Amino acid sequence: MYYHWSYLLLVPGTILMFWAQSQVRGAYQRYSKVSSSLGMTGAEVARAILQRMGIQDVAIEPVAGELTDHYDPGAKTVRLSQGIYGSSSLAAAAVAAHECGHVLQDKQGYTFMNIRATLVPAANIGSQLGPLLVLGGIIFSSLGAISSLVINIGIMLFVGVIAFHIVTLPVEFDASRRALKLIDELGILQGSENKAAKSVLQAAAWTYVATAFYAVLQLIQLLIMSRNR
Ligand SMILES: [Zn+2]
Repeated sequence: MYYHWSYLLLVPGTILMFWAQSQVRGAYQRYSKVSSSLGMTGAEVARAILQRMGIQDVAIEPVAGELTDHYDPGAKTVRLSQGIYGSSSLAAAAVAAHECGHVLQDKQGYTFMNIRATLVPAANIGSQLGPLLVLGGIIFSSLGAISSLVINIGIMLFVGVIAFHIVTLPVEFDASRRALKLIDELGILQGSENKAAKSVLQAAAWTYVATAFYAVLQLIQLLIMSRNR
């Protein structure tokens, strides 16, 4: 392992990540125990929203794991985790509605969602390979121009990762905004139940902010380390 003082920059990012994750777990645990007054399950909430929006070509399936809920635009399928799919809790309604928010984005060709989709491969490659190339370039700096080139490629790959995390923010915020509007308008949740749904989705939003913040710190750290070698 190569040590450099600039790694300390990552500490606030790590703290924010842990804090955001504890917020999500807290909100989820709290509101997954409270049933909604209407008693609709996550799957029923998703079905009701899609039906109201006139969307018939999107399937709703259960998926293994906790908080593994997502919308797969390729398969046109909303996958809800076990704790959401069959649960009539406030958390289940919020999460199911959020995933339907992504379905609506897909239907409407929401710009940020399209940009995000094109950045997925870059983010997958860059998050691992970017820092590795920078580190490799520093360790083999005796190679001169070649090592500088490797470092620059590594940094450019990581810029792609940052772009992905930044574009994820409006996509997630927008899906939650749509979700809260829909569960209120369709009467799926009543009165103060909407507040609970909002706090679940807000906690989830913080994890995306924390991830983006951490990635930006990582880029700054890579830049400092590669300039002060
Ligand atoms: Zn989402």
